[in-house]
Amino acid sequence: MIKDPMVHVVTHPLVQHKLTLMRRKETSTRSFRQLLHEVSALMAYEATRDMEITLTEIETPLETMMAPQIDGKKVVLVSVLRAGTGILDGVLSVIPSARVGHIGLYRDEETLTPIQYYLKLPPHMPYRDAIVVDPMLATGNSAVAAIDRIREAGARSIRFLCIVAAPEGVQALRAAHPDVPIYAAAIDRQLNDVGYILPGLGDAGDRIFGTQ
Ligand code: URA
Repeated sequence: MIKDPMVHVVTHPLVQHKLTLMRRKETSTRSFRQLLHEVSALMAYEATRDMEITLTEIETPLETMMAPQIDGKKVVLVSVLRAGTGILDGVLSVIPSARVGHIGLYRDEETLTPIQYYLKLPPHMPYRDAIVVDPMLATGNSAVAAIDRIREAGARSIRFLCIVAAPEGVQALRAAHPDVPIYAAAIDRQLNDVGYILPGLGDAGDRIFGTQ
């Protein structure tokens, strides 16, 4: 059990139940995708809990009031391709006006280091809070590389949202970016020798897209 105020494991029974269904190897591509959508929406709710709000004057049909709204420019969700795409829709269902950035990273299978092949972020990053989304936090190499880029772009704040994390990945991300909170539905036992999370749920991209 990792005791770290910057690491948030979402233990809500709905999240845990859906994650168990996702882990089962017999779960179909269609169900996996649907469950990921649902879990992502619930996780987004937790990940945005402490977002800054400002009071703004509005008029209800009866009178004016100072009402809370999320401060700053629209949130930016940064999807780490390709598996991050599977989380995006679920998060967008609760933050529908968020802007979306993409970062393409693939893993060199020998060194397990991330190679960047694509980066597209919305403008005005210094006025935006970023949520980086990737279902699996394995070695942490991709997450660290993605967050390096978003930091360079000057995002006002950065959060990392995944579904399953390995202790090794959490440690690597915490070491590289100690100010970035991590939201996960589970922190599993360990990585295997080819960088997969155990017990995990397999290759998230393959399970989302049915490519295996
Ligand atoms: N990426 C995945 O999709 N699954 C793992 O277990 C590790 C990295």
